[in-house]
Amino acid sequence: MNHMHDGNDNRHIIEADRNHVWHHLSQHKQYETVDPPIMVEGKGLRLWDIRGREYLDAVSGGVWTVNVGYGRVSIADAVRDQLVRLNYFAGSAGSVGAALFSERLVEKMPGMSRVYYANSGSEANEKVFKMVRQISARHHGGRKWKILFRERDYHGTTLGTLAACGQPQRSADYGPFPPGFVEVPHCLEYRNQYPDAPDYGVAAANAIEAVILREGPDTIGALCLEPITAGGGVITPPVGYWPRVQEICKKYNILLHIDEVVCGIGRTGRWFGYQNYDIRPDFVTVAKGVASGYAAISCMITTEAVFDLFKDNPDDPLNYFRDISTFGGCLSGPVAALENMRIIEDEGLLENTLVMGERFMAGLHELMAKHPVIGDVRGKGLFCGAELVKDRITKEPMDEKLVQAVVKQCMADGVIIGMTNRSLPGMNNTLCFSPALSINADEVKQIMDTLDRALTTVFG
Ligand code: PMP
Repeated sequence: MNHMHDGNDNRHIIEADRNHVWHHLSQHKQYETVDPPIMVEGKGLRLWDIRGREYLDAVSGGVWTVNVGYGRVSIADAVRDQLVRLNYFAGSAGSVGAALFSERLVEKMPGMSRVYYANSGSEANEKVFKMVRQISARHHGGRKWKILFRERDYHGTTLGTLAACGQPQRSADYGPFPPGFVEVPHCLEYRNQYPDAPDYGVAAANAIEAVILREGPDTIGALCLEPITAGGGVITPPVGYWPRVQEICKKYNILLHIDEVVCGIGRTGRWFGYQNYDIRPDFVTVAKGVASGYAAISCMITTEAVFDLFKDNPDDPLNYFRDISTFGGCLSGPVAALENMRIIEDEGLLENTLVMGERFMAGLHELMAKHPVIGDVRGKGLFCGAELVKDRITKEPMDEKLVQAVVKQCMADGVIIGMTNRSLPGMNNTLCFSPALSINADEVKQIMDTLDRALTTVFG
């Protein structure tokens, strides 16, 4: 490990950070007494901080992003080659990388054909919201303008996406928000809101229909859902849910927007999370895993039918998608995404995700058998969660501070895990795991052993 960085020693860097950097998602009072975390190097799933401490990263860069793992020289080379050839040209021009990556991407998405580029998950989701509003304005006399989102889902950090936020602790204080975003109930079977219904999945989907009928079906343009709710608690959809949701969208002519920002590009063992559930979306958004954090790139993917709505009537000066993202034209994004995709294919990472995902889930179930604080285990592929409760019968959520203590204990023991952090009042009680898709059996074991010790340390 090299402890000098551009001629600056570690102490200087830590103090510069403490004095001048405002970290994301952080209460800074803590850094008056402890050093802020600074990561400096990574290889595979291993990560080293500025003090040379080694970690095994079970959440792919903190927020489920680095799907192909750290230290991928071939992606860096692809980006470098592109940057020295041409770093940037945007406006209405295309690029070689975007053309080739778009073609490869939609090959994996039957029914989809058009890709629109941006820089972040929030931004890609905003593109959909704007398109839905524009379709309403140009094709439905402005009536189908409302967008449904789900309790516990998250779609981004901008005011538009926070208007569609099902996690009250994320949106608190930032309103008022743009109108026309309407919440539908969650579909977490473990916390069944319809105990008398014979089929939870159908009941949870019917709850969406009830909201549609209350609001007026003619006013609803789109339904925006995560295929598996990520930060809201790793909520895998119940059996029967998606077929009914699909039916409801069709019945009321509502466009279906699947937010694949977390699940997209292999996380669940398929290219997209929605492909586990036979969903036919009208819009798909992806971000984190597209280039695994080697470039800031997100995509909004849609059908030719939607695309055509913005192409007809060319004499109308308003009838095209009047949107630009300055850095959506950074040419490094698509070339990084192409190489990222090649790695996933050539190294068989989807297959590895299925095999290691099963091992991971089996490990969590073993821990559940040993530790009564684990009330529920959920997941798909290498996207897993363990919900902690005070009591398995009452399912009372574990105190957030104790869940945090487990995360901290794992970190102190060299494994980085995540949790539903400050998103749901009284319900920040799910541990989250999303290791790189290249994880091996030894690494799964290290995560399980560390978690086992942490649960014993915190809960006895
Ligand atoms: N959608 C989902 C499901 C997410 O988890 C996130 C980020 N955690 C976003 C959208 C927003 O992505 P970004 O932070 O890149 O704007």
